[in-house]
Amino acid sequence: MVFHILTLFPELIKAAALTSITGRAVRQELVGLDIIDIRDFSINRYGSVDDYPYGGGAGMLMMCEPVFNAVAMAKKRVTGNKETRVLYPTPQGRIFDQSMAHELSGEEELIIVCGHYEGVDERVIEEVVTDPVSIGDYVLTGGELPAAVIMDAVSRLIPGVLHNGSSADTESFENGLLEYPQYTRPEIWHGKEVPPVLLSGDHGKVERWRFHESLKRTGERRPELLRKWLKERGIW
Ligand code: SAM
Repeated sequence: MVFHILTLFPELIKAAALTSITGRAVRQELVGLDIIDIRDFSINRYGSVDDYPYGGGAGMLMMCEPVFNAVAMAKKRVTGNKETRVLYPTPQGRIFDQSMAHELSGEEELIIVCGHYEGVDERVIEEVVTDPVSIGDYVLTGGELPAAVIMDAVSRLIPGVLHNGSSADTESFENGLLEYPQYTRPEIWHGKEVPPVLLSGDHGKVERWRFHESLKRTGERRPELLRKWLKERGIW
């Protein structure tokens, strides 16, 4: 999987994506990271990439031409699949979730266009973007953190990226529920004991306890997820 990330702030992407597990995945070439600086496609020698919005209003908008040309460059660098999806992180997009992370992990390459300031001229979005994606109902200053979030969630689903590949299978959302609580040493901390069943060595019992806790926690914290899970199994 190769991520082509188009941004005015390459350092932000590097800081987020080249650290910890995603950083190792890039170094091991399990994941490719191609950062394209949109400023390299500015329309004049002053490096301009943004301008005032027509009709007035606060802030600056990223202009069509630099974004369009940066996407064209990314498309030239795409190797196999010419129908590469172009993601645009925006609070107005489809909400990114674990099922979308799985969907995207099946792509060979992805282009992600990071907006900044007030966003991007609508005309270039219409022309190049295939997938407007939101990471939640709040507004950030730029698309760099959302791009790093998408890259992180997708990368960890790529075989070999997590040392223990099965750890992703038991995590929250994988089976439609939240994960059970987990504990490590010491057995007693601040007077709180690790649930004795986890020390029993009885794998069947441990599995049943974890499943029960997973249902309980999902019901308490995300009742709508539990309802969906029960409905899908004809229990609700
Ligand atoms: N004016 C836009 C609006 O009201 O919908 C918000 C622009 S925001 C200040 C600047 C950039 O941050 C956006 O172009 C987008 O790339 C990114 N962004 C902000 N919040 C986001 C979110 N929740 N999910 C994904 N991207 C977001």
